[in-house]
Amino acid sequence: MAQMRNFLPFDVPSPVYVLGVRVDRLTQSQVLIALKEVLSSSHASCQQIVTVNPEFVMAAQQNTVFRQCINQAALVLADGIGIVLAARFLRQPIAERVTGVDTLVELARLAAEHGYRLYLLGAAPGVAESAGARLQELVPGVQIAGTYAGSPAPEEENEILERIRSAQADIVCVAYGAPAQDLWIFRNLQRIPASLAMGVGGSFDFLAGRQRRAPLWMRRIGLEWLYRLYREPWRWRRMLALPQFVLQVIRKGSNPHEA
Ligand code: UDP
Repeated sequence: MAQMRNFLPFDVPSPVYVLGVRVDRLTQSQVLIALKEVLSSSHASCQQIVTVNPEFVMAAQQNTVFRQCINQAALVLADGIGIVLAARFLRQPIAERVTGVDTLVELARLAAEHGYRLYLLGAAPGVAESAGARLQELVPGVQIAGTYAGSPAPEEENEILERIRSAQADIVCVAYGAPAQDLWIFRNLQRIPASLAMGVGGSFDFLAGRQRRAPLWMRRIGLEWLYRLYREPWRWRRMLALPQFVLQVIRKGSNPHEA
């Protein structure tokens, strides 16, 4: 799949590879321009957006398909302070974090402006619906084509794709957690009847008010992960990947090849 940065009407730095995993070095406003570009031009298949944090990078060390999925995506966003710091360490800095939940709201703005329709797939039953209602409060006029919890199980795929087709969606946001959501999009890319699909993790839970986001001051100093750990302590096991991430980045540095 073509990388979106190739379509941008200006030069952007080439992506940084953190332990062999690609991350695009775009600012939030450049991401918006890239999204606008991809939505307004025609492509043979759906375009995938992945939002990467250190847990993704560590999972991609073991899971080759997941690494391919990220490295071949149209757009890979740095959704994690650990990624921003690693890029700085590798002397290929990324200007700022671009989070999934912020990008989802920006996508909704773009959708409202140009008449694109959003489909919200995943999360616990009822959550996508509340998230959609919240998006409509935040962005008046945005069209929610449909919402459905479903599951990432392969046997549900045909039914889900049919729902998206009959809802006539342009943008599909998938909340099945990583890597399930991103792999779901990746293996269905040729079949997803929409221009763009993005894995959004816990974004619906935040929008629906099921989970609270870290206060702005904590986000600004790069401690959103710590707040998440405090709110959802069961995450400690997943976050064990973090020390490994730091050690390996220091030891191995940048690896532009898919080793
Ligand atoms: N989720 C789901 N089905 C699954 C696994 C997860 O709907 O089989 C949903 C879960 O309810 C949550 C979302 O996936 O709304 C994202 O989960 P998490 O917060 O773990 O993702 P992260 O943001 O850490 O990637």
